[in-house]
Amino acid sequence: MSDLIKAAASRASAFIAGLESRRVAPDANALEQMQYLSGPLQAESRSPLEVLEELDRYGSPATVACAGGRYFGFVTGGALPAALAANMLAGAWDQNVGMAIGSPIGAHLERVCRDWLVSLLDLPRETEVGFVTGATMANFTGLAAARHAVLEARGWDVERQGLFGAPPITVIVGDEVHVSLLKALSMLGLGRERVVRIPVDAQGRMLASALPRIDGPTIVCVQAGNVNTGAFDPIDDVAARLQGSGAWIHADAAFGLWARASSQLKPLAGGLERVDSIATDGHKWLNVPYDSGLVFVRERKHLNAAMAATAAYLVQGEDREPNRCVPEMSRRARGVDVWAALRSLGTQGLSDLIERNCRQARRFAEALSAAGFRVRNDVVLNQVLVSFGTPDVTHRVIAAIQRDGTCWCGGTQWQGHAAMRISVSSWATTDADVEASIAAIVRIARDHYSQSA
Ligand SMILES: *Cc1c(COP(=O)(O)O)cnc(C)c1O
Repeated sequence: MSDLIKAAASRASAFIAGLESRRVAPDANALEQMQYLSGPLQAESRSPLEVLEELDRYGSPATVACAGGRYFGFVTGGALPAALAANMLAGAWDQNVGMAIGSPIGAHLERVCRDWLVSLLDLPRETEVGFVTGATMANFTGLAAARHAVLEARGWDVERQGLFGAPPITVIVGDEVHVSLLKALSMLGLGRERVVRIPVDAQGRMLASALPRIDGPTIVCVQAGNVNTGAFDPIDDVAARLQGSGAWIHADAAFGLWARASSQLKPLAGGLERVDSIATDGHKWLNVPYDSGLVFVRERKHLNAAMAATAAYLVQGEDREPNRCVPEMSRRARGVDVWAALRSLGTQGLSDLIERNCRQARRFAEALSAAGFRVRNDVVLNQVLVSFGTPDVTHRVIAAIQRDGTCWCGGTQWQGHAAMRISVSSWATTDADVEASIAAIVRIARDHYSQSA
């Protein structure tokens, strides 16, 4: 066992050392070689060392270098060193944190992280936190608590009775709602398409003045950090307008919540301290390994009621049973990685990380506009949208950048325009990575101009 674990650590270490020089997306040869991991499953057993060797030889090259400094896709960061190391140790611990009695340390670290996060993000101190797989499940969980609360206020027990015959719930979203929130609504029986959509401005922010009069059980979903522009809905204004209406406000703050860790950026995310539930990701800007999401619910009784397995599933002596905060029963101890990330960064380190990535995003925007390309958003956070000409040219440039391998950026559509999206969200991104990526993007985009000219 000891040799095996050392071998795994040594291979992991070699993989990480290689991130600096390798291309970001795997090449065709690496993808081809994945076939050696398939084929019919053999009858006889193989030694764990052989299995590890095979996986590293054919698996490692076929990865995307998200953990490196030049990956700018999907707002996901790379795992912080302390978080990765803790995750490896926690793998050995093999804890099941469904119940506190099954993992005292797993349950303890979740409580510690809850208290640290609520304090550093300046949320109401009574807020409860559930450790889920990602922002999709955090949206699901927060909205389940919302569904419980708005129906309970009408005397309806949705966990017992379901939605059959229940008072209808009005769900209000901004027109730029993230698809994962709509997916969560669909899984909750609230429907993707029966939402009321509020128009947005040119940056994708909900127009608070367009909110309808609230009547009956209502859930209003705001967004902190638009996945394309990084813009924030005017949450303070929305909360003020809904004051006393009984509406539940849920915020999808998958990456935008972390702006609150910086005193400079915090005003952008103002109002989140007034909402009822917040969904965010650990595996995006906090830079912990997958999969890690967090749901914050201000009144814990609604979260606990929505997540209870049975009405009689009583909390026994423990103030916080982990499984009453999330959909899962058995699961890994996600609090370990979050704890290690926070412990290693400290509040100042986290603030520096967030501010540095935002500064790097502004540098991308400034350099790409200076090179003559069109930046389509106000770069208020870590997101940059850039177009290289016609939609066709933009698509071809994005594909060429991905093939080139110096960096990786995805394509998107922004209010009818094709654009490339640069999300700067990793602790590993250095200023040198940014400059090398800018140089590659400019070179590739100019090549396309000379070719099409
Ligand atoms: C990434 C993202 C999500 C979904 O998060 P997952 O971790 O992929 O489930 C939801 N909302 C926003 C705004 C996001 O950026």
